[in-house]
Amino acid sequence: MVQTKTLQARKRIALIAHDHKKAELMEWAVYNKTVLKRHELYATGTTGKLLEDTLDVSVRKLLSGPLGGDQQIGALVAEGKIDVIIFFWDPMEALPHDPDIKALLRLGVVWNIPMASNRASADFLLTSPLMHQEYDAILPDYGQYLGRKV
Ligand code: PGA
Repeated sequence: MVQTKTLQARKRIALIAHDHKKAELMEWAVYNKTVLKRHELYATGTTGKLLEDTLDVSVRKLLSGPLGGDQQIGALVAEGKIDVIIFFWDPMEALPHDPDIKALLRLGVVWNIPMASNRASADFLLTSPLMHQEYDAILPDYGQYLGRKV
């Protein structure tokens, strides 16, 4: 039987932007302030601080990305506590926490999380009617994997 997870109308959104992408995320966030305010916001440390200052909203701030923030968000994803990820990662720079970034993007796919990595995708995501209503997301079936013989 297909397993689903109900995302509430008020979504738990994780926002992360690498340093060269922070200005772009803030610009996007200002433009979408009214919509973002209807949801519960989580962010890595520096991104979260900027969002709070820019939007005057409260954000649940985790550690800064390179200090473990990406992994903290990944853990929340694995626990089913994040509904949407907006992650403006930098395609033009190698970062010290590259394995953490990859791990977070991987967990987003593992748990079928709506994710946007750039502004156009973020616009499509945020303007979806599903952002404002309950949505039953299908949970991938890892039963075979878990029941494998080792
Ligand atoms: P920061 O982390 O918001 O603390 O800068 C983002 C990241 O580099 O993953």
